[in-house]
Amino acid sequence: MKLKVNQDVCIGCGACQAICPNAFEIDDNGYATTIVDEISEEIKEDAIDAKEGCPVGAIEEVVE
Ligand code: SF4
Repeated sequence: MKLKVNQDVCIGCGACQAICPNAFEIDDNGYATTIVDEISEEIKEDAIDAKEGCPVGAIEEVVE
């Protein structure tokens, strides 16, 4: 699974980083970004929690 953050929508609240720091961080612009290309099984549950917990729905699954 791949996830990306739509930085046009992200409000930089930091929730995703708090829930799943292995997948998300706030970058120099103050908005979240994914720090891994592929979401591994180990962090998948937390990453999905972060996606579902984003207050503005900025985290999207990348469908290839
Ligand atoms: S939870 Fe959503 S709005 Fe908050 S920093 Fe992460 S992507 Fe941005």
